[in-house]
Amino acid sequence: MMSDKLSITPIPALTDNYIWLLTNGGNDCAVVDPGEAGPVLKVLEQEGLNLSYILLTHHHYDHVDGVPELLEHYDAKVFGPADDRIPVVHQVCREGFEVQLPELNVSFQVFEVPAHTRSHIAYFGENALFCGDTLFSLGCGRLFEGTASDMQKALDKLAALPADTQVYCAHEYTQANCKFALAVEPDIDRLRAANKITLPSRLGDELATNPFLRTRADSVVNMARKIDPEATPGIATMAAIRAWKDRF
Ligand SMILES: [Zn+2]
Repeated sequence: MMSDKLSITPIPALTDNYIWLLTNGGNDCAVVDPGEAGPVLKVLEQEGLNLSYILLTHHHYDHVDGVPELLEHYDAKVFGPADDRIPVVHQVCREGFEVQLPELNVSFQVFEVPAHTRSHIAYFGENALFCGDTLFSLGCGRLFEGTASDMQKALDKLAALPADTQVYCAHEYTQANCKFALAVEPDIDRLRAANKITLPSRLGDELATNPFLRTRADSVVNMARKIDPEATPGIATMAAIRAWKDRF
């Protein structure tokens, strides 16, 4: 299904979360990862919108805690990963599942991207990627339940999407990530311009600047070898720079 009217706007929540609001000119809307209900209810009331769908990427409280209260106000269908830690999911989404939102005239393809958590999923469609805490602008999520190998696999999957894909991640971490990216690749001037990146970011720009998407680039591998002299391109470099970022 195609639409040229889909509008995606952020609802800031908690400390640095973005709950993405999807509208299409009508009354129906969807939200992605509502970590709290208050800010969403306020916007829906102001805009006179009906919440028809909720899309969840992973079980962390700052992505799902708003769901029960939203369901008290709206009869919304909840899409999410197969994970008992999420209190309400009406439609479990596996790799390749197509999420159809007919009222919004859009559909999204589901990718399983276990790494930040073991059941993390991402949604792709309409040139937009909702990737939760897997890929950030200039960064990637922490490895809470997965390995560096899992993250390499997950980011390789997302990196294969069209370069024009707009990346809607769930946190505003860009500024801190930029400082780290400059530490990994200090000689790369193009990163300085990225200091102004706001979300969504363009996947093609991420491929050129995000060290976690560049674990096979010589500059990143060489820097990773300062942490792990044995680091080879790919997974070992991912492991080294992710560990570095954890204490950066
Ligand atoms: Zn998370």
